[in-house]
Amino acid sequence: MQTLDTPKTPTSSASDFDTTIHRRKTRPVKVGDVTIGGGYPVVVQSMINEDTLDIEGSVAAIRRLHEIGCEIVRVTVPSMAHAVALAKIKEQLAKTYKPVPLVADVHHNGMKIALEVAKHVDKVRINPGLYVFEKPKDDRSEYTQAEFNEIGEKIRETLKPLVLTLKEQDKAMRIGVNHGSLAERMLFTYGDTPEGMVESALEFIRICESLEFYNIVISLKASRVPVMLAAYRLMVKRMDELGMDYPLHLGVTEAGDGEYGRIKSTAGIGTLLAEGIGDTIRVSLTEAPEKEIPVCYSILQALGLRKTMVEYVACPSCGRTLFNLEEVLDRVRKATKHLTGLDIAVMGCIVNGPGEMADADYGYVGKQAGYISLYRGREEIKKVPEDKGVEELINLIKADGRWVDP
Ligand code: SF4
Repeated sequence: MQTLDTPKTPTSSASDFDTTIHRRKTRPVKVGDVTIGGGYPVVVQSMINEDTLDIEGSVAAIRRLHEIGCEIVRVTVPSMAHAVALAKIKEQLAKTYKPVPLVADVHHNGMKIALEVAKHVDKVRINPGLYVFEKPKDDRSEYTQAEFNEIGEKIRETLKPLVLTLKEQDKAMRIGVNHGSLAERMLFTYGDTPEGMVESALEFIRICESLEFYNIVISLKASRVPVMLAAYRLMVKRMDELGMDYPLHLGVTEAGDGEYGRIKSTAGIGTLLAEGIGDTIRVSLTEAPEKEIPVCYSILQALGLRKTMVEYVACPSCGRTLFNLEEVLDRVRKATKHLTGLDIAVMGCIVNGPGEMADADYGYVGKQAGYISLYRGREEIKKVPEDKGVEELINLIKADGRWVDP
């Protein structure tokens, strides 16, 4: 049986009513002409699916993503030939389009590849679980401290040249931990836990810091949202304790596709952003990468972190609704969706409508059968026949000098 909590005496302070998201203070890390962290707007990223050896295809895919708002594009470089191809991709982009901030994903034992690709891209992403790949031993029952340290030393020696070349070129590195690919020694020492993920990242950060390299972005992705949330929160706690201020790249891996993939990504990314955690995001969908960008922007817009489209406020409609709300909202959206920066409300009736328009710039509100009222803020401007509603809304926006042609 469900039981109710005993009501508590309300205690509130001014901060309970604070509607601002206070972003965690992070150092700025430059990736080409984009800055991650340092109070800059949360950066949107995605990744192309093309084989990087297909230069024409990759250039076209990077351009497609960049044109719709993807600010940093990731490519994968599984071999040395792929790393070399990046030089041509970069050159072609500059020649036929414009320079686009690029990140290369380096895989298993990727030291040589990373060194080559670091010449051509703005950021290199390494996975601590795979960068120095130790094949797990089936019969292992423990990991001694000596073995742990020995591999730690090997990692240091392998990472050092990459860190030095990135430092010399003033480029960036993402230390991208994945829950699904933690190194065996981390699994033995910390278990398959957020702590293991955080310690993996810290080990690599410490190597970078010992070489005085600080252009670092951290990610701790997992396919299960609660794991991902715990890992990022623990990372923030540990960084605060250690006086580190590296920006964070948020993502839920293998989120899937369709509505659930979007909801899962939003549950993970949006929750952390609302807590002020996160400086760049990627929504990973099992769909064309172009489909990821609108989701990123919707998450950011919904939280008020970036404004890239019109904010529509619309009531859910009910028995009082005086017109077909879905249809009208669709018509209003089609006519105004290019007016970035405006808030437009479409409300079914005057009973609750004007009060619930949440301070929208303009309102389209059902007045009486066959008529709607147009509002500027909370002020009713005029009553017009419903079939002239959208046209008159445009006229009102034009009269206010806030219209631009699509
Ligand atoms: S604004 Fe009016 S029509 Fe819309 S849900 Fe509220 S009461 Fe119903």
